[in-house]
Parts: sequence; structure tokens; C-alpha cells
Amino acid sequence: MDLDEEPTHAKMAKFAWREVDHAEQPKREADERITDFHEIYSLFDEATIREQASRCVQCAEPACVEGCPLHNRIPEWLGLAAEGRYLEAAEISRSTSNMPEICPRVCPQERLCEGSCVIQSREEPICIGAIEKFINEYALAHGEGRVDVAPPNGKRVAVVGSGPGGLACADELSQLGYSVTVFESQMLPGGLLLFGIPAFKLEKEIVERRVNLLRHQGVVFETGVTVGVDLTLDQILKDFSAVFLGIGALKPKPLEVPGAELKGVIQGLPFLAQKNAPIALGLPPVEVKGKRVVVLGGGDSAMDCLRTAIRCGATDTVCAYRRDLANMPGSKKEYHNATEEGARFMFLTNPLSLEGNERGEVSGVHCVRMEFELGESDASGRRKPRPVPGSEFALPADLVLIAYGFDPVPFPVDSDLSRIEVNDWGATQVDADQRTNIPGVYAGGDVVRGPSLVVHAVRDGRRAAASIHRDLS
Ligand SMILES: Cc1cc2nc3c(=O)[nH]c(=O)nc-3n(C[C@H](O)[C@H](O)[C@H](O)COP(=O)(O)OP(=O)(O)OC[C@H]3O[C@@H](n4cnc5c(N)ncnc54)[C@H](O)[C@@H]3O)c2cc1C
Repeated sequence: MDLDEEPTHAKMAKFAWREVDHAEQPKREADERITDFHEIYSLFDEATIREQASRCVQCAEPACVEGCPLHNRIPEWLGLAAEGRYLEAAEISRSTSNMPEICPRVCPQERLCEGSCVIQSREEPICIGAIEKFINEYALAHGEGRVDVAPPNGKRVAVVGSGPGGLACADELSQLGYSVTVFESQMLPGGLLLFGIPAFKLEKEIVERRVNLLRHQGVVFETGVTVGVDLTLDQILKDFSAVFLGIGALKPKPLEVPGAELKGVIQGLPFLAQKNAPIALGLPPVEVKGKRVVVLGGGDSAMDCLRTAIRCGATDTVCAYRRDLANMPGSKKEYHNATEEGARFMFLTNPLSLEGNERGEVSGVHCVRMEFELGESDASGRRKPRPVPGSEFALPADLVLIAYGFDPVPFPVDSDLSRIEVNDWGATQVDADQRTNIPGVYAGGDVVRGPSLVVHAVRDGRRAAASIHRDLS
């Protein structure tokens, strides 16, 4: 090496992680962020991005790529970002992801790419999510977020549902020259990106911008249309060569204890939708100010409910979850954000019944402490909790939010959608290429796998688009 030559990223990469400390993505103080619904993280500055990206070791067999469900080409765009070549980095990032500015905001990186980073055994991992967000925001700000679209190929494909699965499938097919129409039962496209995930994690303008990029690319959105009610599957199959079903799993699991019918006991998702959606949804108003809120459940939606209730003026927010922190399904990053914002967690706690006052309003949750059975695991591989005899106690509550997860909404029995094969818990059955039992009908995202992640829905949408293209070519 010429000693006068400036060391390039590639030459110094193997060692930078020893010299450059991991930086935390800039985050607003909890006191400030609970006063609004804006995103809590902001972008790194350019100097930090280059420095942080240079920590990547450029492994020959990158575990982060394997850890990412989309197999994002992470070391390639980290290398370019380290050299300040953000537009090229973003182009590579776009080549494997249909929402490269959205996934970094919502992915639990600690379980995916960053959780697989080899540096982790010695040091904090590369902040892959923050860098992915930066390069893609940079590209969008420089008018470079668009992709090339092939000339029209004369074939029409319908996408049902405009969540991340449907949007990814529509994006892929429209890039290949298909004429794509997305049917969405809500009045705005975006699925849970819009109506579920709160704005403090993903601002709604970001979703709207992504939808507008697709519109610009020629994708047509028909909102306010419920397939199975307003339009049959056969009608769609007459007009379109293939259909992708990305209708999610939006049937909330019920709370099955005495008192669940009391006033002030409501499902978490309609609560989140009412407080976060960018349009009025006609849902009954829920007053939170000055109330003691108990959230039941331990997933992402439970934490979103807690943090939304705090922003709506709750005086106390408690999460009651029957397992412990280590066995909680929600993202640990969001758990820390929730505790910083004032949420309290009661682990190994399960509700037995809800107590009410003379007006039929909930006044408390009668709980029992739980302990783990030795050596026992359930079907999910997590340890099985059992009640501790004599450990019951009362938790005061004026509002109880149920966040026990979701199941797919059953297809209406009188609709031709009911010809689609589902498994014993109602999830649509598909083969490895996302094909259902009905020729020309494909499915992916939560409707197939049950409540999962945005990035998994994107992967399914991409895989279905590739199968549709193969089958129609
Ligand atoms: C509160 C909450 C927070 C979450 N937070 C995160 C997170 O931080 N990170 C993460 O990765 N994941 C998160 N998830 C999970 C993630 O949002 C979902 O896994 C993902 O949105 C699933 O995408 P999808 O495309 O399968 O369906 P959805 O996003 O559910 O979209 C389905 C769409 O289909 C429409 N639809 C349904 N039936 C019909 C019909 N018959 N005709 C027409 N349209 C129909 C619906 O209106 C909806 O718009 C969260 C989920 C919830 C509920």
C-alpha cells in the first residue's frame, strides 16, 4: 500500500470496529416525546453514518444477510455508506426491499440483522437499521427513491389488501410491467402500517409517501372495496390473470375471563387505530386522560397500547404479562422505550377476572402471580407458566386494553373465498411459492403465517410476485 494514499473503507474495515465505538441512534428525551406522536428517533449526521458504517467487518459469509428475512445486501451498502456513496448504497438496498425506509423503522433488528452481526460476540453490533434508514431517506430527499419500470406487458394482476405484503407484491409486479390494481377495504391504503403501528414508530407521511411512489409507478388503488363482500373472487379472476391475497390477520383474540364485557374493556387494535389513524374511522371515542390503564399481553401491540395511552394522558399504565421479560414476544428495544416513557411492567401476572362498579364500568383486574413449570415448554418453545396458589391480588384500572394477538378473519361462508384452503386455526394454506389451492390465487403475510412482522409480509409479497411472474410467463 502507498503510505500517502488515503486509506479507503475497504482497506481499514477489518479494524475500524475496534477503534470506533457503537453509537446509539439519536432519540428524543422521554419527557419530550410523550407530548406528541412524532417518531422518537432522528437520523444520524453524515460523519457518524460514515464512521458507524466503517465498523462493518465485511465478512466473507455475512451472518447479517442470513439474519435478514429479505437477505438484504447489508455489507455492500455499508461499505458504500462508509465512503459517503449514499445514493449507490440506497440503490443496492432498494434491490432487495420494497420498503427500505420503513423496515428500518419497525424491524426488531436485535432479533434479525443486528442480532446476527459477528461483532456482537466482542462489541456492540453495527447499527444496520439506522444506516439503512439514513441512506434511503437521503436517496428519497434527493429524488432517487424510484425504481425502473418495464414497459406494460398487457397482463393484469389484482392484489387484495394494502398492507406491506400487498404493497410489496404490487411493487414487484408493476416493475415487471404488469398492470396492478390493489383492492383495499379501508378508505386509505397501508394496512397495519397505517392503522396499527403507531406514528411514534412510523409516521403516517412515510407510509403515504411509499404508496404515492407506487401510484406514480402505475399501481391503481381501489379503496373502500371488501373482496368477499363487494366483489367475489370469481369476478376478480375473470378480469385479472392472478390474485394475491394479503388481507392480514385482523381478528383480535378475545379475553376469556369473567367481567370481559364491562365498559372500559376494549381491544387494543381499534384503540390504536382511533388514536393513530390519519382519518376518522367512526370508532366509538375512548377517553384516556386521567385514567389508570392496564394492558393485557406482551407483544408489540401491548407496548404500542401502553405508549399510546401515555401520550393520551393516562395517569398510570401497567402491562400485565403472564411470562417474564426474556419470554416476552415484543421487541426489547420497544420495551425499553416504553419503560423510559413511564410504562410499568408486571411480569408473571395473569388476569383471573375483571371487577366493575355499580355503573358497569371496569374498576380493576383481579390477577394471579405465575411461575414457570420446571423444564416445560409450550408449542412456541417458550417456558410454560402456571398460577402460584394463594397469590391473587387486585390491580386498579379504569381502562383495560386487550392485546392478546390476532387470528385471520374467517372467510365469509357464503363467499367464494371460502373455497380457499385454510388450516385448523384459519390461516390460508400456501405452497413454498405462495400458491393457494385455487389456481391463480396466491397469498402471503399475516393471513398465511398469523401475526408476524412487516419484513416477513414483504418477503411473502416478493416471493408471490416472483411465482406469479413465473406462472404467467
Ligand atoms: C399494533 C401493532 C403493532 C405492530 N408493530 C410492528 C412492528 O413494530 N414491527 C413489525 O415488523 N411488525 C409489527 N406489527 C406486525 C405487522 O404490522 C404485520 O405483521 C404486517 O402489517 C402484516 O402485513 P400484511 O400485509 O400481511 O397485512 P396487514 O398489514 O394486516 O394489511 C392487510 C390489509 O388487508 C385489508 N383487507 C382485509 N380484508 C380485506 C378484504 N376482504 N378485501 C380488501 N381488503 C382487505 C385490511 O384492511 C388491511 O389494510 C404490528 C402489528 C400490530 C397490530
